Amino acid sequence: MIRNPIPWPNGARCACAITFDMDADSLIHVARPEDSSDRLYPISMGRYGPEVAIPRILATYRRLGIKQSFFIPGWCMQTYPRAVEMMLEDGHEIGHHGWIHEDPIVTRGAAQEEAFEKALEVHKRMTGKTPRGYRAPVYNITLQVVDLLVKHDFRYDSSMMGDDVPYRLQTAQGSLYEMPVHWGTDDWPPFAHYDEIGYMMPVRGPSAGLGAFWEEFEAQYEAGGFFMLIVHPFLTGRLARWRLVEQWLELTLAERDVWFAPLEAIADHLDTVADLRTDHLPYYDGPQS
Ligand SMILES: [Zn+2]
Repeated sequence: MIRNPIPWPNGARCACAITFDMDADSLIHVARPEDSSDRLYPISMGRYGPEVAIPRILATYRRLGIKQSFFIPGWCMQTYPRAVEMMLEDGHEIGHHGWIHEDPIVTRGAAQEEAFEKALEVHKRMTGKTPRGYRAPVYNITLQVVDLLVKHDFRYDSSMMGDDVPYRLQTAQGSLYEMPVHWGTDDWPPFAHYDEIGYMMPVRGPSAGLGAFWEEFEAQYEAGGFFMLIVHPFLTGRLARWRLVEQWLELTLAERDVWFAPLEAIADHLDTVADLRTDHLPYYDGPQS
């Protein structure tokens, strides 16, 4: 059970979002900037996302009549404009995901502000608006980034793990909603295998990897909660995996009382909820010992 269930629109039992982080080949350029442009295998693995997986994923959403959220680094939007156009044509949300997937723990101060605002400019130019949501590359959100989100009137972050359902983040400057992530609903552990960035895991079979997600869904559904996948086109958009996701979507939409929505719509709904749990930031004033 959860102590703080959120009443969902039309009495739906569970809010659901499949969120794709379209990182494309940004990861290799950040990890190996000295020679990334000549590392053709990881570049091609990343390009599979915008070139092959995104059209496949969007076709499923179109057929099933659902709108969802994508998070894309500004550099990737600029490099793969057709994928962005296709998402916009179908009415999906695109959230901020850094400039070239730089880690906010590493890229701090003036460099972080510059990267954040450079990406913001690409969003404004390509989508015609300021994004409403943000997800930190590798979830590494910092107080500086929270301040930047508040400063630029973002509605929500989706990088932290402090609850099962959305909650509020309050700072001295303002507030945001938090759409909480966690590793149990992220496709990196079961499906990523990426030596160049120091991530070596045995790749799980499609039904084993995705089966863990569906167990997470069942618990959230039973509790009247919030089920969100954090997945990547070059991993979960692969043929065998997406085929299983598509089958799960068809079954869930037909047989369960769920509300599939982009995170910006869920944020709008949270405006109507009176008693959201609140985390006050900063958690600490400085290093603890
Ligand atoms: Zn990412």
